[in-house]
Amino acid sequence: MAKRMTTSAGNPIADNQNSLSAGARGPLLMQDYQLIEKLAHQNRERIPERVVHAKGWGAFGTFTVTHDITQYTRASIFAEVGKQTDMVCRFSTVAGELGAADAERDVRGFALKFYTDEGNWDLVGNNTPVFFVRDPYKFPDFIHTQKRHPRSNLRSPTAMWDFWSLSPESLHQVTILMSDRGIPTTPMHMNGYGSHTYSFWNDKGERFWIKFHFKTQQGHKHLTNAESEQVIGQTRESYQESLYGAIEQGTFPKWTLHVQIMPEEEATKTSYNPFDLTKVWPHGEYPLHEVGVLELNRNAENYFAEIENAAYSPSNVVPGISFSPDKMLQARVFSYADAHRYRLGTHYEALPVNRPKSEVNHYHKDGAMRFFDNFHSNPDAYYEPNTMNGPQEDAAVAEPPLRIDGDADRYNHREGNDDYTQPGNLFRMFDQGQRERLFGNIAAAMDGVPEEIIQRQLVHFYKADPAYGEGVAKAVGVALPKTVTANT
Ligand code: NDP
Repeated sequence: MAKRMTTSAGNPIADNQNSLSAGARGPLLMQDYQLIEKLAHQNRERIPERVVHAKGWGAFGTFTVTHDITQYTRASIFAEVGKQTDMVCRFSTVAGELGAADAERDVRGFALKFYTDEGNWDLVGNNTPVFFVRDPYKFPDFIHTQKRHPRSNLRSPTAMWDFWSLSPESLHQVTILMSDRGIPTTPMHMNGYGSHTYSFWNDKGERFWIKFHFKTQQGHKHLTNAESEQVIGQTRESYQESLYGAIEQGTFPKWTLHVQIMPEEEATKTSYNPFDLTKVWPHGEYPLHEVGVLELNRNAENYFAEIENAAYSPSNVVPGISFSPDKMLQARVFSYADAHRYRLGTHYEALPVNRPKSEVNHYHKDGAMRFFDNFHSNPDAYYEPNTMNGPQEDAAVAEPPLRIDGDADRYNHREGNDDYTQPGNLFRMFDQGQRERLFGNIAAAMDGVPEEIIQRQLVHFYKADPAYGEGVAKAVGVALPKTVTANT
């Protein structure tokens, strides 16, 4: 027999079809609290969508260690080969709103939350190893160019290329975005990167700088612009369909985790700034070390509760894993947790999907939606320090000091930075077909952009590689500025 339906307060409901009224033709009664509750809930079914990464797809999974890296990190997730840790993943596009089509050209978010024995470790990455800007001061402006124009309420290619052409540090990411990898076929057919430089620290208190790479075991598959138009014409939900469908069928997607490791003292010696989010560490200098396998193997039972409510933040680190001087990372450590407090509420970490599987013992007190009990057995221990046997700090998990050298100032992040070699290296890896598609994708994205802005951007392409600048110039039908070609 079906269960008895109730209100949210548990009162049994006798009639869920007809509201309470004074006769068939008469008005409703205000005392129909069941009707009011139903309408009121509908009005509150939405929470603010994420300002960035609003459209997403996710699933639960397992991380398994395959190689020993305990000499670099004391993180419990990597404690021994064979160890498994539960996790939840959320992929996303950056710019589109919650209802945007999945198969759009955009960077993809690749956010991972590992429920480790010593708290949650979140790696909130992308499907690209770099980003458009290196100084967080520029991030809100950059995102404004990706979102809607305040007057037209339309996306503005002019704003995007105006900003990019005035911010040459974006060239590397723009090249990846406009390349074949700019529209992965599904979230399963792309790599994930931690992107920032993080650090590991070990039992001896030694620190190592780290880059995380999750390489797809499904192989890279992408759509051309024409193919994506066809897909979007048929379905806006191609990623959700493919990811959800694969997991329902038991075809579990997997990624191999690798890390690049840089000894702490080498950070001052590389020709590029290793904490610059617009740069990669060349594999030839810092090879990939295999660590383990990530498998997604369970769909959420309730998408909203478990994927929309999943709150990822780079501030969630665990003993053995920490930050670096990367300026963008430092800002994200603040900004992500702040975004969730606004979007989900003060106690968002206590929601089931965000709640660590390890013990949580803090003294944060009241506030909206304080729905969980005291953590400690003694209710008198509600402040710290106390003599009431409340939880205490543990010096054994103190991380080694982060060595910082320098005077605080507003350093020009452009000075001394080479924005062209690495995008050029990427371009030079492409065969002729890949180059032609790159030129065509850029030309399509520049549709309607004033010539002056296009010319400014062509100079950046040219500086990365003359063939890059010339190829785009031809595809877009705008000549390279004479001064550039004359200078080389
Ligand atoms: P490598 O030849 O050792 O590595 C090239 C890398 O490029 C591989 O990781 C490959 O990924 C990736 N790649 C191939 N096609 C694309 C594409 N369309 N968009 C993005 N990445 C792609 O050379 P280097 O390490 O010296 O790097 C050369 C250039 O490769 C860099 O300037 C950077 O643009 C790009 N790159 C470098 C990465 C790094 O961490 N060093 C990571 C990703 C890109 P895969 O193996 O999965 O096919």
